Amino acid sequence: MVIIMLGAPGTGKGTVASLLQKKLEIKQISTGDIFRKNIKEGTELGIIAKEYISEGKLVPDDITIKIIEDRLNESDVQNGAILDGFPRTIKQAEELDRILASKGKKVNKVINLTTPDEEIIERIVNRRICSNQECKKIYNLILNPPKQEGICDKCGSELIKRKDDTEEIVRERLKTYFEQTSPLIQYYEKQGNMLTEIVSKTINRLGIDVAEDVVQILKGEK
Ligand code: ADP
Ligand code: ZN
Repeated sequence: MVIIMLGAPGTGKGTVASLLQKKLEIKQISTGDIFRKNIKEGTELGIIAKEYISEGKLVPDDITIKIIEDRLNESDVQNGAILDGFPRTIKQAEELDRILASKGKKVNKVINLTTPDEEIIERIVNRRICSNQECKKIYNLILNPPKQEGICDKCGSELIKRKDDTEEIVRERLKTYFEQTSPLIQYYEKQGNMLTEIVSKTINRLGIDVAEDVVQILKGEK
């Protein structure tokens, strides 16, 4: 099964994807995580990606599509994948359809997360992430703080704030989302496989309710 997590930055794509990964036993593929790993390791890809990410812009399509195509060829995702942060442009969505079709697969479900704009900035500036690459658990200092300040509950590693999680860069990322990514809502609505979920502190708990809801729907119980 191929699932896509769609939504503006800070709507909880990563949190919901990681819950779904556990519940559905299919791997999460996050383009943002792949770029950050390469930036940390100082690879050629990392050096290029950093220029765009630090300005809240998208990494060019040709680079990003190649990364996903290679990743989707690996053996651990042949039974399915949860794509977190890809596609982000119409071109990427078209190429994804082509890549999957060549394997006799297709996009089975698109989970579109929406959050009120005023909550997005608050969520992002208070976001902290476990620095352990194997863990990467996501916290929120207000909504879901760690038990001990600065330390991951799950693995004890240090929590870090992403460099692009500042108010200034978030505003740029939101602009990029509305201009280049939001047209995907219509693209997938036309394919008839979209499920929209509202993520808001006044409605649900940090992706848990959303992930549960999605699992129920996928199981055909709803
Ligand atoms: P968020 O959804 O919170 O913005 P991500 O980790 O998904 O965080 O993405 C971080 C950054 O990585 C993006 O702002 C963008 O610069 C880059 N990026 C991630 N996925 C893509 C993609 N599919 N196409 C182009 N750039 C991407
Ligand atoms: Zn951790």
